[in-house]
Amino acid sequence: MIIPNQGHLSEEQLTEVRAIAAEFNCTIRPIQGEEMSVYAIIGDETSQLLVNRIEGLAYVKRVDRIQVPYKVLAKGNLHGQAKMIIGGKELGKDFVIIAGHCAIDPKNPNLFYETAQAVKEAGADALRGGVWKPRTSPYSYQGDAKALEILVEARARTGMQVVTEVMEYDEVKLCVDAKVDVLQIGARNALNYRLLTQIGQLTAGTGIQVLLKRSIHMGPVDEFILAAEYIAGAGNHNVMLCPRGTLPSMNGYRNHPDESITQLLKERTWAPVVVDPSHSVGKAQYVPKCALAAAAYGADGVIIESHCRPIQGTGDDPKQSITPAMLAKLIPDLRATAEISRRFN
Ligand code: PEP
Ligand code: MN
Repeated sequence: MIIPNQGHLSEEQLTEVRAIAAEFNCTIRPIQGEEMSVYAIIGDETSQLLVNRIEGLAYVKRVDRIQVPYKVLAKGNLHGQAKMIIGGKELGKDFVIIAGHCAIDPKNPNLFYETAQAVKEAGADALRGGVWKPRTSPYSYQGDAKALEILVEARARTGMQVVTEVMEYDEVKLCVDAKVDVLQIGARNALNYRLLTQIGQLTAGTGIQVLLKRSIHMGPVDEFILAAEYIAGAGNHNVMLCPRGTLPSMNGYRNHPDESITQLLKERTWAPVVVDPSHSVGKAQYVPKCALAAAAYGADGVIIESHCRPIQGTGDDPKQSITPAMLAKLIPDLRATAEISRRFN
């Protein structure tokens, strides 16, 4: 991290620094603040020669070598001062609830409109709805681009911001064009580093936020944060981390619940944590308590599958969606639990 002598580097100075970094196959990413800017060296900045050359420039105060492997998402840096807002609520200040279908059934749009209105009345801040679905079996419903129109229509009807999962470049493009508010990268693609980079590039500067699920195969907490760093490093800093259960699954639950890593994530990164209890425990009856646990562990929000008539749903909805009535009961307790948790910060 390059700390300039006087607030910011001039264009000329930045060009010179960039040229030096390029000799070492590194690039420079300015991290702009009002009073001062710092400049991250992206690439392998461990070369002593690179550090010496940049530190030797008269307008550079010093080069800090950050110990943590993530630069943009590291706790305490200037990016953390930017606000991330969902449904008018600021992540980190207010507990945010995202709710809605696992999958939108394009043959039955009214079901989704009904759920959208019901989760809004239950107190949810934003609406989820799967357009394209990553399914274990190639014979299961895979999603349908027509559902994107239904999602956008539900946003228009309710005024709620919307969240949907993308699995490939073309889907990201369609969602950027449709101005989908939050793009989800699911547990399967959380290890698809090329897609993570592409989504960071395609959504940079759009205001679109990205919710990155934790892969079922991820172990160390840093592995998860580094996956998010691909998105942030590629240009979109508005990333939320979403623990959603990992392998090996716990006998009785769909996955191994991992909401407890929230406090470890929060120690290392400023990125908001939004827990998904639905895929973690995988059964509607277990979801409320898992969500409460997430709030207790200090999560900034939850994303919950909810359906007005789960048995008529598709994808995960019949087994793990809670009803809007249950959501309405849960939301005040989630907010209260988050408040209690903050007392222990
Ligand atoms: C989903 O949100 O419906 C989903 C498929 O999630 P995950 O990637 O966590 O399995
Ligand atoms: Mn699902």
